[in-house]
Amino acid sequence: MDYPGNLFVVAAPSGAGKSSLVKALMELDSGVQPSVSHTTRAPRGQEKHGREYFFVSQQEFDAMVLADAFVEWAHVHGNRYGTSKKAIEDRIAKGADVVLEIDYQGALQIKKVFANAVLIFILPPSWEELRARLERRGEDAADVIDLRLQNAALELAQAKEFDFVIINELFERALFDLKAIVHAQRLKYAALRRARADTFKALNIA
Ligand code: 5GP
Repeated sequence: MDYPGNLFVVAAPSGAGKSSLVKALMELDSGVQPSVSHTTRAPRGQEKHGREYFFVSQQEFDAMVLADAFVEWAHVHGNRYGTSKKAIEDRIAKGADVVLEIDYQGALQIKKVFANAVLIFILPPSWEELRARLERRGEDAADVIDLRLQNAALELAQAKEFDFVIINELFERALFDLKAIVHAQRLKYAALRRARADTFKALNIA
């Protein structure tokens, strides 16, 4: 499927710092918009319906799957998560840049539908640091952390399928890398021709 906007897909094992990086990117760059996913998991802390996620029941999720409303969906850590067509298609068709923060299974499904999607994998600097970050976060019980680390081993093995890899050792450095990827994408011929149509026209190039 072809479209004028860029679609960035960021995946990482939990604790690698994906959410903080994407949040910082969007604060710095108003041209990048988030996609709000649907999930069957319960809201945590201050999370709000329609902001972090659309929190739906198993039945509502089933109904959306049946209605073919998702571009991708997957089971992650015992819950279901999905990107609705509505969350992205209108916006990228209008030329917006959209960032999806999803798991690797979803990312690989997206690449099948949107061949030009830019897949970015965030790696932690080490296993020790990943465990330490999950423990510091204080959100999960010890057995949940162990499960997340087991899953992380499978997830990291998928990094090689992605277009770009960022090692999140120093936050500022990782953010610089993420901005560089977004920027480079916008400098691709087709993207720049769309963004600077007047200049291309004046230069008499197609
Ligand atoms: P959390 O429950 O911690 O917010 O997210 C758990 C995992 O589900 C994270 O890796 C997150 O990126 C992933 N996730 C969130 N939304 C989606 C989605 O729409 N599709 C897929 N495949 N994964 C998602």
